[in-house]
Amino acid sequence: MHPMVKPALRRGWRDLNTVQFGMTPAHALTLGPVDTATGSFLELLNGTRGPTLLREEGRRMDLPDGHVDRVVEGLARAGLLDDSRGGGPDADALRGKKEVLDRLRPDLASLSLTTSEPGDAMRHLAARRALRVRVRGAGRVGAVLAGLLSGAGVGEIDVLDGGRVEPWDVAPGGLPAESVGDRRDETARRVVRRAAPGRPPRRGPTTPPEGSTPGFSLVIVAPRDDVAVHTPDPAAAESLMTSGTPHLYAGVVEGTGVVGPLVLPGETGCAGCLHADRTDRDPAWPRLVAQWRSGRQRQVRACDLTLATTVAGLAAAHALAFLDGRTPSSAGARWEISLPGLRWHTRPVEAHPACPCGAAGKGKQEHTPGDGERRETMAGQGPSAEARHEAEPPRPAGTWRAHV
Ligand SMILES: [Zn+2]
Repeated sequence: MHPMVKPALRRGWRDLNTVQFGMTPAHALTLGPVDTATGSFLELLNGTRGPTLLREEGRRMDLPDGHVDRVVEGLARAGLLDDSRGGGPDADALRGKKEVLDRLRPDLASLSLTTSEPGDAMRHLAARRALRVRVRGAGRVGAVLAGLLSGAGVGEIDVLDGGRVEPWDVAPGGLPAESVGDRRDETARRVVRRAAPGRPPRRGPTTPPEGSTPGFSLVIVAPRDDVAVHTPDPAAAESLMTSGTPHLYAGVVEGTGVVGPLVLPGETGCAGCLHADRTDRDPAWPRLVAQWRSGRQRQVRACDLTLATTVAGLAAAHALAFLDGRTPSSAGARWEISLPGLRWHTRPVEAHPACPCGAAGKGKQEHTPGDGERRETMAGQGPSAEARHEAEPPRPAGTWRAHV
């Protein structure tokens, strides 16, 4: 290992022998006691030296025997250390592509804040390149979202939609003005390609043979249709439910932006659960839904450009968190934001006992974020326990059950 104190965390001395790593309550930690010599030694942990060289430097600085190893171990335990050469063969391959990696450096630094083991950030970033995601819907939300995921390093993004680009589909970061009249799906795929920091790695021998249905790690449902955003049709998600494919809803309806739920089939509330719960609360709900669905389609629906972009960004962040092996807060919940107050709030999407998905009574504990392990420090503490990052049991990036 070539240890490196995570450069993403700003360092500051709270007093003569206490160091604070990081500024924000979500990720900052304090460490102490740290004497001046050890403080100077921290400067050497920048990823350019291996253990042997570090021990030599320690002797030169008159640090006691074994001190260097104890410091490195302590920092690693506290989650403050990265390994400039770690992350495995895929990470090494990515390090070999300097231009691609340079594009993704801020994302790598950000990943270092939410991973604890040295080398994990690079491992996660490299793993994104092998993931496959589908985006259903290429309007103001879907096309931007697909571009964001591509730009963040997700290797393969397939966009599905019909028809041709209309002038009102155009959005910065999404479908460009010059594509009006072109096929919507093809244009969105072009957006994805242009946003990508590099070509995805070639698929290995495990690639499914031509003609079989390869699986997606995640499907994002981002309909242009406002009714489908407000009340997602369980029938439209049937294939996702039966194949056990995780899926995330996102869109804009009237003046409200929606992100969620992230559905982990059979474990968290799905479109069917949402419909059943709404029907329980409001007997007129099915009647209203039937009217909304059969009503005449308006050609242009309300969709504030900034709201659509906000939804695309937040939904992409939830998707990435999931693809990186975490369970974001949209699992079993919808985040909603309405104009003009623009306050985010969350509405739970409880698993419903009458829904055939079978999530009711299952998975609640497993997928409650924020109750994971505490981060340890040498003899220190994070400034805010409640804002501690949402650590969870490790799940390989992009996996959730089988890739189906
Ligand atoms: Zn359900």
